[in-house]
Amino acid sequence: MTLVQIAQQMKMEAHDKGNAEEKGNLDRDDTSKVMIGGIAKREERANGIEVVKTSNPNVWIAKSQSRPGVEHEVNLELGTCSCEDFTKRQKPCKHLIKVRIVVKAG
Ligand SMILES: [Zn+2]
Repeated sequence: MTLVQIAQQMKMEAHDKGNAEEKGNLDRDDTSKVMIGGIAKREERANGIEVVKTSNPNVWIAKSQSRPGVEHEVNLELGTCSCEDFTKRQKPCKHLIKVRIVVKAG
């Protein structure tokens, strides 16, 4: 096996892992749709992410509780987040999903 082949295989494995994580996030999102406020708050703690409104209703700040000082800007209108995960995959990250859950829960 050449180095290029190994690199490609690793890339594919990483891709599969990403999809699995995304599915997990979506499953949790589905659950929260049928639940209300208290559950969303509990999930907020479970995920270790705190989300804070800004003066723009479409822009939220997601704070990592496990990594103090790490903040990401989530834009609901554009469906974007400034974190590394979103930047790499261009798919909804946990911050974006978290903000959507909180907004839905009111
Ligand atoms: Zn993010």
